[in-house]
Amino acid sequence: MRLSFQYRLYPLADQLPILQAHRAELAYLWNHARAQRRDAWARDRRSIHYLDQQRELTRWRAYDSQGLGRLSVRVAQDCLQRLDLAFCAFFRGVQGGERPGYPRIKREVNSFTFPTLRDPIVMSRNGTWRLKVPKLGEIPLRLHRPLPQGAEVRTVTVRHVASAWYTDLSLEIPDPAPPPRESPQTPVGVDLGLTHLATLSTGEVIERPGFLRKGEWRLRKEQRRLSRKRRGSHRYHRQRVRVERAHERVRRQRRWFAHRISHDLAERFDMVAFEDINIAGLMERTRHAKSLSDAGWGILRELTEYKETLRSGRCLRVPARGTTQGCSKCGRRADPPLELHTRTYRCPCGYEGDRDFNSARNVLARGIHLLSEELRRSSAEVKCVESGPTRALGGRRVYQRRRACFKKREYGIEVGAPFERPTWAVRLAVPIP
Ligand SMILES: [Zn+2]
Repeated sequence: MRLSFQYRLYPLADQLPILQAHRAELAYLWNHARAQRRDAWARDRRSIHYLDQQRELTRWRAYDSQGLGRLSVRVAQDCLQRLDLAFCAFFRGVQGGERPGYPRIKREVNSFTFPTLRDPIVMSRNGTWRLKVPKLGEIPLRLHRPLPQGAEVRTVTVRHVASAWYTDLSLEIPDPAPPPRESPQTPVGVDLGLTHLATLSTGEVIERPGFLRKGEWRLRKEQRRLSRKRRGSHRYHRQRVRVERAHERVRRQRRWFAHRISHDLAERFDMVAFEDINIAGLMERTRHAKSLSDAGWGILRELTEYKETLRSGRCLRVPARGTTQGCSKCGRRADPPLELHTRTYRCPCGYEGDRDFNSARNVLARGIHLLSEELRRSSAEVKCVESGPTRALGGRRVYQRRRACFKKREYGIEVGAPFERPTWAVRLAVPIP
């Protein structure tokens, strides 16, 4: 199984110019190789492929020994490969009858990859961790978590985002055990919503945390400031960096939050069922687009999926159609249909409950149905599992978890201090019968 681990890099003063040079030189290579392909086609209808350009690379590097020649060959080759991918995507689009964009000229390359490196993470003589890469030496990095047991580093990508440097390590880890063949012990259904981020079939509600709102507010403020600057001026560029940083901050916070929720889900439940909502499609169609993109459903599902796989659990997507409109007790459809603002679901059968909670129970029921179909096909015996609370609500473990040491500098929190109760504290949507 492939996993990607990300670490922040803290390049030394003499490494920074080399890193910047990589960005510029690779952009030069990209543009050059792109122009070569374009001209060969325009002049004599000849296609140039990756292997042609890889052969030429030696010549180019010899010619430009002070620029391109100082980069690692593998990095340059990887850049050509990326260009090849971009062209392939373009041609596929043309053949498919779309109107794809032609690969663009680059001013700077934001990331570059070392495709094969053996044990790139080393400990320096003074006991700090370093990323060892050709032509750059050992770049200090914050190893905020160790690599997993038995992991092999396959590729190393160095990435520049908002005036900071990161590395993405693509790891090959031993395949986790497949999920057991019997039915799950602690299944849960998740209803994704706008008023709340998610409602679980256990009755818990996960709210969107306040810090996201705050970050987005800050981002908007910086963007407004940028719009008042004269384009291309010194202050404009300075402000652009601020906007970029605010963006990155919001992105990081969203990801962090999604990691926490998905971790909690994967730890507590051995089966998680989500609605199979087409998020991209929804965003185009509805006027809720802004709040939808904020909600971060896609990333939550994605992260939960791999975390369940790691723990030999299951993460399912069930058809979303009608999960809100059906009664989770008797299965009857709501007539007349439930309106958007109606918060309580009432059924003639006597069932009455929170709208999202009802929907989450439907998602769970569909998930179990889907799974039992699957298990029946694999001729295993299935017993239906009653839905309901699975453990002490709130998962005390979550609140007691400690912040890692590296947070100390950023937040001024003492090492080992207990984690304060997060703002997304779960609460009950409905009393559990
Ligand atoms: Zn009913």
